[in-house]
Amino acid sequence: MYTVLDFDLTLTTEHWYAFVQNAPPTDACGAALHAAVHNNCPLSEATLPVHDYFVRRFFGDEERQRALRTFVETAYASGIVVIASRGNTDDIQWALRELSLRVHCVFDHRTPKHTLLQRLCVLTAPTHVLYVDDVADEHRTFVDHGHAPDERDPDHQYVFYDLHGQRGRRARGLSVADLCWLTDYVTRHSEARA
Ligand SMILES: [Mg+2]
Repeated sequence: MYTVLDFDLTLTTEHWYAFVQNAPPTDACGAALHAAVHNNCPLSEATLPVHDYFVRRFFGDEERQRALRTFVETAYASGIVVIASRGNTDDIQWALRELSLRVHCVFDHRTPKHTLLQRLCVLTAPTHVLYVDDVADEHRTFVDHGHAPDERDPDHQYVFYDLHGQRGRRARGLSVADLCWLTDYVTRHSEARA
């Protein structure tokens, strides 16, 4: 099973790319975090408050952090986890390292998402591709390029999880309920395959 995840406002609760690209914030923790990413330096134990600030600001409270970790680790154990973002690969990998969160690869804007998904579907057919993105247009682009969403696919090959469709408003990342649903989905699919 391939799990393809958008990063900003899907895994994160605040836009990481925008934070890194914008001017440094004026608060001490924000400025230290901004500098660490730009210098590609991990946050050491000496800057533990900055690490806590980073995790809480971009990945929510402890309950959400746990739910996110459980989902990504379950997906990682069940197949391949790909991050597909319009952001910057290095910045995303910095964040994932800081979280000690494993994924198999990170693709950025240089690979259009519909191209990436088409290639994965060719490679992995007829297994599942679970694709999660907060931007509904990304789903539609993929469908426009000839791939049907799962309800038209008898093998349930592609599952699109659209945060707009789920909530009817712009989401601030996957909620704890979303993450539990996705973990359960990945687990059920893995058990069905085994
Ligand atoms: Mg996004």
